[in-house]
Amino acid sequence: SERLPKPEKTRVMTISNQKGGVGKTTTAVNIAAALARQGARVLVIDLDPQGNASTALGVDHRADTASVYDVIVNDLPLGDAVQKSPEFGALYCVPATIHLAGAEIELVSLVAREQRLRRALDLYMQGLEEPFDYVFIDCPPSLGLLTINAFVAAREVLIPIQCEYYALEGLSQLLKNIELIEKHLNPDLSVSTILLTMYDSRTNLANQVAQDVRDHFPKQVLKTLIPRSVRVSEAPSYGQSVISYDLNSAGSLSYLEAAAEIAHRGAPQTGSQR
Ligand code: ADP
Ligand code: MG
Repeated sequence: SERLPKPEKTRVMTISNQKGGVGKTTTAVNIAAALARQGARVLVIDLDPQGNASTALGVDHRADTASVYDVIVNDLPLGDAVQKSPEFGALYCVPATIHLAGAEIELVSLVAREQRLRRALDLYMQGLEEPFDYVFIDCPPSLGLLTINAFVAAREVLIPIQCEYYALEGLSQLLKNIELIEKHLNPDLSVSTILLTMYDSRTNLANQVAQDVRDHFPKQVLKTLIPRSVRVSEAPSYGQSVISYDLNSAGSLSYLEAAAEIAHRGAPQTGSQR
């Protein structure tokens, strides 16, 4: 397989959309696996109490497992919660356990409650001999403190958009929220990438929605579309990305291509030194 250009410094991307079921977790897991398959060192942080990304990456996330909850609530060093995924190459995951469901409330009374993931991640990355090329944070479908922690820890936002009638609804609210975070908590944050998912080329509607999104966000939308595919939805039940589960399926090939696009485009330019 092709080897992709490596970023100069770690690209930390949060996968976000306030809607549930639009393909956030599927995108986090499969873009991460696709990059790892093509030679990158990749970390996925599962920040959704449902733990779907942990399941799909085949890592342990039973209640007593060291997890992202312990990192953000109990100050566990992030490295102590990292597990290697049985996927291709250098792919790692910080799992989410059931405890994370209480974190939204527990965080409220903690010092620096919006910065906890960022501090833990920065500290961990400073001590690494071999840096990660990419870190992906899989968010829950809400704008609570967990998602805010993800926005503060990241430099880039990747928004998956499902090609359906209501796709653009809620998007302006999401963009407003990101703007607020940028203004008050993380000046380096930008929406670098939009990925159209669950695309069905046979429907006019899907084509129309895809075109609408491209018209609104010409710079951010990837050329590659992710087709709706049964193989993509089956893979998590085997604890695998679709890249491992069925490398030559349409879903796998499209995620490999989307990952290559992300790598070739590179990080957005910002003035910051971080
Ligand atoms: P979110 O994390 O935004 O809630 P998921 O990634 O869990 O969304 O996806 C929601 C559902 O859609 C899951 O059952 C998933 O397997 C399925 N799905 C996601 N992408 C595709 C696709 N390209 N083709 C078919 N099913 C998909
Ligand atoms: Mg999800």
